[in-house]
Amino acid sequence: MSKQNDRNERHKKAMERKKAHIDGKIAQATIDKGLMIVLTGNGKGKSSSAFGMLARSVGHGLRCGVIQFIKGVWETGEHLLFQDHPQVEFHVMNTGFTWETQDREADIAAAVATWEKAAELLNNKDVDVVLLDELTYMLTYGYLDKEMVISALENRPPMQHVIVTGRSASKELIEIADTVTELGESKHAFYDGVKVQKGIDY
Ligand code: ATP
Ligand code: MG
Repeated sequence: MSKQNDRNERHKKAMERKKAHIDGKIAQATIDKGLMIVLTGNGKGKSSSAFGMLARSVGHGLRCGVIQFIKGVWETGEHLLFQDHPQVEFHVMNTGFTWETQDREADIAAAVATWEKAAELLNNKDVDVVLLDELTYMLTYGYLDKEMVISALENRPPMQHVIVTGRSASKELIEIADTVTELGESKHAFYDGVKVQKGIDY
């Protein structure tokens, strides 16, 4: 047998073992439930991953709700795309980045008013997917009551998926989540002086 054939044969055997292992795991996964997903960490990709799941959900005809807890200075592509979509209810917090407003009282009032929209979505079993973008900051800054938020997340309809994004997710959020991804920053173009790019960053 040539060296190449030998290698092909070993590869086939390894793939067969891998398939048997994965098929076994797939057979064990029998639960259907609403998931809570947390995307956190300092690396780029939290909101864009969350909006990727939103796009998938919309594609499947699911009803979705989005709350963006921080309003940036640029009009985002996700807002332009989904704001008038018949399957999507989209709310953006009516204030700028906190370090731009520098007005804690006004930020708290805006956070609380925005949370009411989130609470409505988390209470509505007809909403399949709720995306709470940049929610983590509302808890780290103490703008929203932690227990109120955790309780609303835990008591949502059992089949409703919820996605939470933002850096430094609190341990309580991580505890109640089903899937947690921490995105690490290996490199970011910003540190080489590159400006935010339309479509990539917003
Ligand atoms: P994205 O929306 O691109 O998925 P994100 O949600 O992970 O990013 P945020 O902390 O919400 O990150 O920051 C939003 C903006 O800041 C985006 O323009 C993003 O490209 C940029 N950004 C994200 N991570 C970093 C980083 N580590 N350093 C500098 N800028 C970043
Ligand atoms: Mg983000």
